[in-house]
Amino acid sequence: TTIGANLAATVAAHGSLDAMVDVTSGRRWTYDELHADVRRLAAGLLRAGLRPGDRVGIWAPNCPEWTLTQYATAEIGVILVTVNPAYRVHELEFVLNQAGIRMVVAASAFKTSDYAAMIAEVAPRCEALTDVVIIGGDRWAALAEGERDDEAVAAVASGLDAHDPVNLQYTSGTTGFPKGATLSHSNILNNGYFVGELCGYTCADRVCIPVPFYHCFGMVMGNLACTTHGSAMVIPAPGFDPAATLEAVQSQRCTSLYGVPTMFIAELALPGFDDYDLSSLRTGIMAGSPCPEQVMRTVMDTMGMDEVSIAYGMTETSPVSLQTRSDDSLQRRVATVGRVGPHLEVKVVDPVTGDTVPRGEVGELCTRGYSVMLGYWNQPEKTAEALDAERWMHTGDLATMDADGYVSITGRIKDLVIRGGENVYPREVEEFLYTHPDILDAQVIGVPDAKFGEELMAWVQLREGAVELTAQALREFCAGKLAHYKVPRYVHVVDEFPMTVTGKVRKVEMREVSTGLLG
Ligand code: ATP
Ligand code: MG
Repeated sequence: TTIGANLAATVAAHGSLDAMVDVTSGRRWTYDELHADVRRLAAGLLRAGLRPGDRVGIWAPNCPEWTLTQYATAEIGVILVTVNPAYRVHELEFVLNQAGIRMVVAASAFKTSDYAAMIAEVAPRCEALTDVVIIGGDRWAALAEGERDDEAVAAVASGLDAHDPVNLQYTSGTTGFPKGATLSHSNILNNGYFVGELCGYTCADRVCIPVPFYHCFGMVMGNLACTTHGSAMVIPAPGFDPAATLEAVQSQRCTSLYGVPTMFIAELALPGFDDYDLSSLRTGIMAGSPCPEQVMRTVMDTMGMDEVSIAYGMTETSPVSLQTRSDDSLQRRVATVGRVGPHLEVKVVDPVTGDTVPRGEVGELCTRGYSVMLGYWNQPEKTAEALDAERWMHTGDLATMDADGYVSITGRIKDLVIRGGENVYPREVEEFLYTHPDILDAQVIGVPDAKFGEELMAWVQLREGAVELTAQALREFCAGKLAHYKVPRYVHVVDEFPMTVTGKVRKVEMREVSTGLLG
């Protein structure tokens, strides 16, 4: 089924219940009200001349209008291109042209980003772009606050197929330039549904979504998991703010909280953390990057999220393909990313031969099933590199699978460090560094080395009160506990790591900076 048909079904069942709460402004929508606004905007988009298959870009931090645009475009088969709010003119121009965007819906400005000015700057060089809609401006009002025209919307909707593209999402750009994954209604609607199922969502759940909507984590695992179950979407703030997030959980009595591990680390480190009433929390999802064991334990114990699940996914697979279940042991939630999701397949293969490796051995993780993207937008060669003839998605991630089918991610093929012929998985070293009392967060990378090919460097964030950590001191801490070739040779103390907006550490950038430092 399509996203529009699914939303209508939820509205029929739960119309009077909360659908969306914007905590910053205090605005709230029931499912009936959400549906009315979605239909009004869909009618406005049709009057603006948009038709199925046209591309509309959305460029804004999390806000209710983002979600309204998500559902209104889906109603009429318009492909929503979710533009990363951290982009600057160079990337903006690239995505507007690469996706052939006709209309862009944008926030006027947020923090240091003047979206309206950046669009005005690149617009003359973007041929397809004919309509710029600033949220809250006159053009937005004309589109979003006009008359409903359910007949016109239904006429268009009746021609849509669940396998039509509905969304174009660019990858996080953690390992290089972002690629646009083309996703269908069936891809993302089913993924949102199954993610919600594994979280046990019902119309009584209220999900706090501080992760960006522009990414699958926010718009699929967040919004679509909610609207397929009649749960409420709670938007704590535009942009991530740890205090606003915990305040939203408290004031909205949220039952579920999302984040990448670095967000949970920031929340747990808030002064006054103990004063928040988080007793409503039952579950949540941690995804996007590996979660340090200690963080997991604290989230389960002190935040009360004892059903929290770990999910593994990627933009190209809508995104989730592996997830822990609420009855999985703590050990499994810490050491694995769970088992394959419903109606999906995974395998671990030798990256060279393509043969499935024996259980327990490291290889490249591949996934297949309903969630696999249609392809990269207008990039057939890149699509052919990622998707093989049998439609297996080659993830670029290294993993092992145990006898019971639980998968552990050991790192990205691109981040693997080979020091003096030994494979070092940075993740394993990072886990160990977290046990150091002065270390808040640590990231390990390989830097070029004349003798060993590569050497390990640890970038560390120190805990408050800790002043210094020398390479010498760290080596002494590791001595006898880690194999000698896994012990970092260099230490670089930082206030923060270079991050993508999805909260992932950009090791590419760290490697460039480090190579410069060692000069
Ligand atoms: P790009 O493809 O542009 O380099 P990216 O791969 O970070 O960026 P996303 O699609 O947002 O873009 O992220 C998917 C990747 O995130 C996965 O391939 C994997 O490396 C990582 N990842 C996701 N979930 C987890 C998890 N639970 N544990 C470890 N790594 C994860
Ligand atoms: Mg990727």
